[in-house]
Amino acid sequence: MRGARAPAPPREAAPSPAGGAFGELRLEEVTRAFGGAVALAGLTLTVKRGEFVTLLGPSGCGKSTALNCIAGLLPVTQGSIWLDDRRIDVLRPEERGFGMVFQNYALFPHMTVRKNIGFGLAMRRVPREEARRRVDQALALVQLAEHAEKLPGQLSGGQQQRVAIARAIVVQPPLVLMDEPLSNLDAKLRIEMRTELKRIHQELGRSTIYVTHDQDEALSLADRVVVLKDGRVQQIGTPEAVYTRPANLDVARFMGYRNIIPLAAAAAGEGGPVRLTGAGIALRGTAQTPIGEGPVLAAIRPDDLELDGGADGFEGRVESVEYCGRDYLVDLVTASGLRLHGRSLRRVAPGDRLRCHAAPSRVLVYPPES
Ligand code: ATP
Repeated sequence: MRGARAPAPPREAAPSPAGGAFGELRLEEVTRAFGGAVALAGLTLTVKRGEFVTLLGPSGCGKSTALNCIAGLLPVTQGSIWLDDRRIDVLRPEERGFGMVFQNYALFPHMTVRKNIGFGLAMRRVPREEARRRVDQALALVQLAEHAEKLPGQLSGGQQQRVAIARAIVVQPPLVLMDEPLSNLDAKLRIEMRTELKRIHQELGRSTIYVTHDQDEALSLADRVVVLKDGRVQQIGTPEAVYTRPANLDVARFMGYRNIIPLAAAAAGEGGPVRLTGAGIALRGTAQTPIGEGPVLAAIRPDDLELDGGADGFEGRVESVEYCGRDYLVDLVTASGLRLHGRSLRRVAPGDRLRCHAAPSRVLVYPPES
C-alpha cells in the first residue's frame, strides 16, 4: 500500500447515511490517475452482499488505489461508485460507513484492547450497555477475550491485527475493506489468521474486499478474484477459474505457470485441443483463446509437468533439485536446450534423465505475445 493513505486510527462520525445493509457495490469504469500516470484504468466490478472479493496482482498494479477509491481515501479521476442506486464516490470516507483494516494496524497505543475496539461505538454514541455487549461479541469473534484489558504494546503482531479487525467489524459495517492485513505476520500466523478472517466473514455475512499480492491468500479466501496488472483488470473469476484457466499469459505467469514454452500449433482453432511441436519436443495442449497455425506459447505449471511421464513424453536432464518438504522442485534441460521446471515426489539427482509429460488439459496454449 502506498500513496494517499497513512491509515490513521478510525475516522469517526455519526452513523453514515450509506452505512446500512446493501445489495451490491458497483464500480463503474473507475479510473485514478496521479498526474499523467494512470494507476487504475476503468475498473468495473460488482460486489454482492456477503461476497468475499480479493484484488490480486503484483506490486504497483493498482490494488491499493482501487481499495482507497472505494474507501474514499482517494477521489476517483473518472467513473463512479454505487451502493445499490446510491452514488457514493462523492461521499467522504466516514459517510460511506465501511470498515477498514490496513497493513499497519494503527491502534491507539494508550488505550486497552477493549477501548480500542469500542472507540467507534463511543464516537457513534452507542449506549454503554449495548456497546459493551458488542465489544464482548467482537472480542469473542477474534478470540481475544482474555486480552481485553491489555494495551496494544503487550500483544503480539497477530493479536494486534485481530484487534484491528475487531475494531473494523464492531460497528457492523456492510463492507469491510482490507489492504494486505496479514503482511506483517509470519507464515504460520498468516495461515491461522486467514482461516479466522474467512470464518469471521462467513459469520457476519457482510461483504469483504481484500487486497493482496499473495496468490495463495487470494485463492483461499475469495469467492471471486480480480487480477490486476498495470492498473487494468486481467481477469475476474472464481479462484478455480483463475487458477486453472488463466485468461492470458500474464495471469498464467502470476498464477505460477512457470514454464512458458514457444512452440508451433499444427492448426488454427477457436480454442480447445491442439497439437504442438518445436524446441525438439511434441506436446498436446488446450488453446485458451483462438489461435492461428504457427507460433504460440504453451504455459505449464511445475506441478503439472509429470516427471517419469511415460512413453509419449520427452526427455530432460536434471540440472538442479530443491527439497520442498512435500516434494522436490526440479530444473531440467531438454536435448534442444529448453529449460523446464517440474516437481517430483521422489528424490532425483542432477544428471538423471527423466521422461517429462503433461496432460493436454494442463498445457495451456495462448497466442504469441506482441
Ligand atoms: P503494492 O502491492 O506495492 O502496495 P499496489 O498494487 O497496491 O502495489 P498502488 O499502491 O495502487 O499499487 O499503486 C499503483 C500505481 O500508482 C503505482 O505505480 C504507484 O507508484 C502509483 N501511485 C500510488 N499512489 C501514488 C501517489 N500518491 N502519487 C503518485 N503515484 C502513486
